[in-house]
Amino acid sequence: MPGSRSYSTEAIVLRQRRLGDADKIITLFTPDYGRIEAVAKGVRRSKSRLAGHVEVLSHCNLLLHRGRSLDVITQAQLIGGYRSLREDLSLVSRGLYAAELVERFTDVSADSLPTFRLLVDVLQWMTARTAPPDVVLRYFEMRLLDELGYRPQVDCCVACGGALPPETNYYSAHAGGVACPSCRAGVQISGPLGVNALKVLRLMQRASFEDLARVGIEPALQLELERHLREHINFSLDREVRSAAFVRDVQRQEERLLLAADGVQG
Ligand SMILES: [Zn+2]
Repeated sequence: MPGSRSYSTEAIVLRQRRLGDADKIITLFTPDYGRIEAVAKGVRRSKSRLAGHVEVLSHCNLLLHRGRSLDVITQAQLIGGYRSLREDLSLVSRGLYAAELVERFTDVSADSLPTFRLLVDVLQWMTARTAPPDVVLRYFEMRLLDELGYRPQVDCCVACGGALPPETNYYSAHAGGVACPSCRAGVQISGPLGVNALKVLRLMQRASFEDLARVGIEPALQLELERHLREHINFSLDREVRSAAFVRDVQRQEERLLLAADGVQG
């Protein structure tokens, strides 16, 4: 019977790193305790039953024992293994990016349920291919920024507070949102923001993911959104997200494959 030194929690595995010859330290994101680290003993041994349940991006139920420094995972039960996601380079690169964002933006905190639910949703949307994985990531970034207090201001100008005209405006990660053409000179600008990109940013703040998924977002528009949101995130975190480079490599590979396929068809 678990005593008072044991507790159970649902978790998503964000990261793993080696500890000694046989163990790993697992970074977990939980609905009630925020981000925690725990030891998974013996998972580097081939016979470990625990190993398959604590893979990166797995969704599981865990029983943990409170340790002096780190807690120890004593039991694990898989809720969602997302095997098809982990075996697809295109999806896993985006999944790891989402996990890294959560790891970097969050800490041990009591109220992490909305962010936890969002991360579970993202893994499910990607696995179900409800929308292109990059569109899922943009929605995730917008919602994460919102939940953690970095909501981009897209309804009115960040400098004068006036309405944004239906023409090219300007994104300012520095000022936390969109600046109108008249205020452009007064704020540090990350780049121009087209009319359609502004519409999608607003939609991402207001609409459900299902509604966003119904809107076709072309690759060029997706890239424009990616640039601005990435800039916003780097500015809010005050550093780069490492796995963004991995996503970029995979995107380049996908572009080459698309071009090759076009060549074959043409
Ligand atoms: Zn203005």
